[in-house]
Amino acid sequence: MNEASTDILIVGGGPAGMMAGLLFARAGLTVTVLEKHADFLRDFRGDTVHPSTLELFHQLGLLDELLKIPHSRLDSFSVRVAGRIMRIADMQHLPVAAPYIAMMPQWDLLNFIATQASVYPGFELRMKTEATDLDYDSEDRVSGVLTSSGEILRSKLVIAADGRRSVLREKAEFPIENIGAPMDVFWFRVDKPHDYAGDLAGTISAGRFMVMIDRGEYLQCAYLFAKGKADAVRQEGIEKFRASLKTLVPDLANAFDQIEDWAQVKILEVSLDRLLRWHRPGLLVIGDAAHAMSPIGGVGINVAVQDAVTAANVLAAPMAQGKNPDMLLEQIYRRRIKPVKRMQAVQKLAQDRFIAPLLARNEAIEKPFLPLRILNRVPVLRRIPGAVIGMGLGREDIQSPKA
Ligand SMILES: Cc1cc2nc3c(=O)[nH]c(=O)nc-3n(C[C@H](O)[C@H](O)[C@H](O)COP(=O)(O)OP(=O)(O)OC[C@H]3O[C@@H](n4cnc5c(N)ncnc54)[C@H](O)[C@@H]3O)c2cc1C
Repeated sequence: MNEASTDILIVGGGPAGMMAGLLFARAGLTVTVLEKHADFLRDFRGDTVHPSTLELFHQLGLLDELLKIPHSRLDSFSVRVAGRIMRIADMQHLPVAAPYIAMMPQWDLLNFIATQASVYPGFELRMKTEATDLDYDSEDRVSGVLTSSGEILRSKLVIAADGRRSVLREKAEFPIENIGAPMDVFWFRVDKPHDYAGDLAGTISAGRFMVMIDRGEYLQCAYLFAKGKADAVRQEGIEKFRASLKTLVPDLANAFDQIEDWAQVKILEVSLDRLLRWHRPGLLVIGDAAHAMSPIGGVGINVAVQDAVTAANVLAAPMAQGKNPDMLLEQIYRRRIKPVKRMQAVQKLAQDRFIAPLLARNEAIEKPFLPLRILNRVPVLRRIPGAVIGMGLGREDIQSPKA
């Protein structure tokens, strides 16, 4: 092995990378997290901290502190279809400390984790540092990364948590299974009207589907449309887009007048994929870099955080005792791949059975679809989607040690 300057080098300061940084530093290891941006303030991030993740903070004794960050709480979901509000998921009965989704800007969550991690002497966060390639030792083991400024940073283990466009997964040449998604998303915000009710997760209409995320002062809107059709929608003009939004969510008609230019509307190309291998000697890939999740259910952050928890559960204690992590990396993959596959299968099912037909549909929706009507009518059934969204499918508690 080349000489390592740190035990663990994490590339990417998103939810997966920051949570891994916190847990490994808490276990007494030296950890450096590289984040290519200067801050966490990017709009293009998910904002939902689900009960499964809140439970982890509870286990770390940090939940009360986390919940001091301004947030709103969502313990049930409703959608509007054919003018009717349908209740479709309920989390109030989950057996956890916080049975609701805390809606807080992801940059607040990441800053919070960074602050908590910096309590530990082994933790270092290097902003504005971009990894561009992997570095190998003479035995072809990954021994660190190269950065855009030409530095070589060495560590006993590199964790690639650099998101769905991961450079490191590409450099490692891991095979990818592309599952595909039938939609892309326009992402924009409008000021929140004072009389906004706030409990509506989405509005469904023929060919269109929009989700509104309440961020306190404003609403973050995600408008789903058929994949590859962004240019066609743009060519029809911003007025037509605005008019279409107004018919989709009439309560926000005035607010949509704020959308005057396409520069206010960003596009998210939705991906659903996973690596067939997550590791090689000296390297582990986690989070969206290992498995880009569809926005369905808003579970991406929480699945990414779970990867970090499993990685720390498996590796922290042995590495703190000076053991080589290589033989343990497959264990992490095996523990995580099933929950990831199951969640992606649920997302694919929702994409194929619901989103794709909806986006292709021209005729008006006369009444809510049968599964929605059943959920709306039978409260106990709403606990099932509530549990899947809130707790994920196969989660781990924190078992990594505190030094
Ligand atoms: C528009 C949108 C809405 C979403 N909504 C939700 C939602 O409501 N709820 C939810 O749970 N999930 C949502 N998601 C998904 C969620 O944001 C991701 O699943 C989650 O952030 C994945 O976490 P991660 O840490 O694996 O990757 P990321 O959050 O992508 O973090 C990767 C980090 O690595 C950094 N980075 C990348 N390359 C390098 C490099 N070479 N060197 C150094 N740093 C690098 C990036 O700047 C980034 O900070 C949404 C995603 C998008 C795009």
